[in-house]
Amino acid sequence: MIDPRKPAAAPTAYICDACGGRFEDRLEHAETCAGPFPAIWWHENDGDVLWWCWDGNDWLGEAPYVGSPLDCGITVEMRSGDRPERVIRTDVGGWPGYHTHWTRLPPQPPAPETATTRGLRKST
Ligand SMILES: [Zn+2]
Repeated sequence: MIDPRKPAAAPTAYICDACGGRFEDRLEHAETCAGPFPAIWWHENDGDVLWWCWDGNDWLGEAPYVGSPLDCGITVEMRSGDRPERVIRTDVGGWPGYHTHWTRLPPQPPAPETATTRGLRKST
């Protein structure tokens, strides 16, 4: 039942920088819009995506990072040959954290026509 004393909550509308479209549900909008979306829009329900870095003038000329901010690195241990021995533990890999935008992963390609994994066929 609607409480007449309480004003109806107006839905919050956002405007997408990528397509100019208006939306209320970001997750729903990302299903139909190709982006790129600002990094802050990412939600764990978006899963692994492609991450890009805009430097203010252009995209960095590097391949996108594939993954999510939930990616964990691997802890490696380095031992020096010094006496006394020094041991350094650090995390490598994982979420790089400097990307500014993301886009969805492309769909998987169609199944290959042959069972070969080499990708080569003799022409007939
Ligand atoms: Zn959009």
